[in-house]
Amino acid sequence: MAGNDETEKVYSDDKFEYILPDGTIAPQRPQEVQCKKCGKTFHHELNYMQRMWFEKNKVFDFIPNCEECCQQEETERKEQAAAAREAKWVKQWEDICPPLYLRTDASRLPKKGMEAITEWEYNDDGMGLGFVGPPGKCKTRLVFELGRRIHMDHKEVKAVSATHFARLCSGQFMGSDDRKDACERAFGALAESDYLIFDDIGKQKFTERVEMEFFGMLEYRTSNLLTTFWTANAGSKELASMMSPDRSEAIIRRLSEFSTIVQL
Ligand SMILES: [Zn+2]
Repeated sequence: MAGNDETEKVYSDDKFEYILPDGTIAPQRPQEVQCKKCGKTFHHELNYMQRMWFEKNKVFDFIPNCEECCQQEETERKEQAAAAREAKWVKQWEDICPPLYLRTDASRLPKKGMEAITEWEYNDDGMGLGFVGPPGKCKTRLVFELGRRIHMDHKEVKAVSATHFARLCSGQFMGSDDRKDACERAFGALAESDYLIFDDIGKQKFTERVEMEFFGMLEYRTSNLLTTFWTANAGSKELASMMSPDRSEAIIRRLSEFSTIVQL
C-alpha cells in the first residue's frame, strides 16, 4: 500500500501506474494513440487528466491529430483564408465593374488590345493606356479587363463613364445638400484613385463645366502621377473639336503624354 500522499508509482518496462486517491490503480498511460483523421497510430503522452478522461469515456477525442494531419489542417486553413480574401476582392470588383463587362470573355477581345494590356506594366510615372477607335472594338471591355487584373493585384481601381462623370459634375452644384455631398465625395474618390478607368471621353460634347472639371481632374491626376486608363471613340482632332479651343490642347496633351495610345 502506497503512502497517503503518493499518487504515482513507477514500474519497470517504462510502464506507469497511478494510485488514485481512493486507492485503486489508474489505467495505464496509453503510449500509442490513433489519429482521428487518417487512422495512423502515433505516440502521444497523456497527462493525468487525459488519462482519467480516457478511462471514463474510452475515447481519445482530446488528443490532437497526428503531426502530418495537423500540418495539413493548418495548410488548408491558410488556403481557405486566402480564398476568402480573394473572394472578397472578386466581390468588390463586381461593385466597380458594370455587370455587362463582368461577363467579358478575354479570349474574344481584340488581339492588339490584349497585347497592349499585357505589355502595360506598373510604373511610377503615372503612365496609363488609352484605347481609341470606333464603337464595337471592345475598348471598354479592354480597359475593364485591365482594371480587373490590377484590382485583383489588390490595388485601388475606380471607374467612371463620361456620362456618369458629367452627372457627378452637375450633382455637386444641384439638388439637396446630401446629394451635393455624395457627388463631391464620389468625385474626389475618382480624382484620387490610384488607378482610374475613364470610359468614353467625348461621348457627348463637354459642357463648359464638365470640361473644366475633367481638365481639373486630369491635371490633378497627372501631376500626382496617378494612372488613368481611358477610351474614346474619337481621335485627337475630333476630340479637340468637341472642347473649347483654349482647353482642348492642354487636355489632349496630358492624355497623350501620360498614356500609351492604342488605335483599334
Ligand atoms: Zn493523421
